[in-house]
Amino acid sequence: MNTVSKNMSLINYLKKSGFIKTKKVEDAFLNVDRSLFVLPQHLDEAYEDKPLPIGFGQTISAPSIVAYMTELLEVDEGNKILEIGTGSGYQTAILSYLVKERGLIISIERIRELSEMAYKNLEKLSLYKNVKLIVGDGSLGYEEDKPYDRIIITAATPSIPNFINTQLKNNGIAVLPIGTLDEQRLAIIKKDEFGKIEIHYDISVIFVPLIGYYGFKLSNDKTN
Ligand code: SAH
Repeated sequence: MNTVSKNMSLINYLKKSGFIKTKKVEDAFLNVDRSLFVLPQHLDEAYEDKPLPIGFGQTISAPSIVAYMTELLEVDEGNKILEIGTGSGYQTAILSYLVKERGLIISIERIRELSEMAYKNLEKLSLYKNVKLIVGDGSLGYEEDKPYDRIIITAATPSIPNFINTQLKNNGIAVLPIGTLDEQRLAIIKKDEFGKIEIHYDISVIFVPLIGYYGFKLSNDKTN
């Protein structure tokens, strides 16, 4: 099987299992080949529905969770999105495809080498023009480009960070995993037109930790 048909069968599986729900998210998955975002030694597993190591103790998320969170985020063309935890850049690429040229993705990663790898990965698809990659502590959000239409955190977060309230636009949506180091629930946060916040807790997930000021503090963390 070639890469296109392997990607097609992954997409068919994601549709059948209900992770991909809309045509636009399906289109994004058709255009963003996951094999461009995995390490060479994991190429043969690129289309399997599981997270894979990307170095520095971090992982590229499973395609099903990327699809699921993307659907929850209800991305529109032209959106300005803040993403915390760039990692491989796979989720970044999906979002970049969805917001098109008029939109903007600001993605923060604390490990410089990963941010640089993500940039190279995004370049392969020419999906870097509407993407701004920042190296820093995303647990504080990113004041400079606020407010955001959408916010996504792809690392386990101990509690809802303050910046979600202050940096999310009215009518905005944020999706993030909230919980302990062992297990989290996906939180969907919606701000209404008056700025009132509603939080809904969805499925259980397991992410690598958000490390930083409003994240977890790991005493034996070697990636600092
Ligand atoms: N969406 C990415 C997931 C990467 S894993 C992918 O599918 O490839 C989560 C990432 O969050 C890791 O790369 C980790 O280094 C990063 N991270 C952890 N704490 C962070 C923080 N405070 N600010 C920015 N990035 C952080």
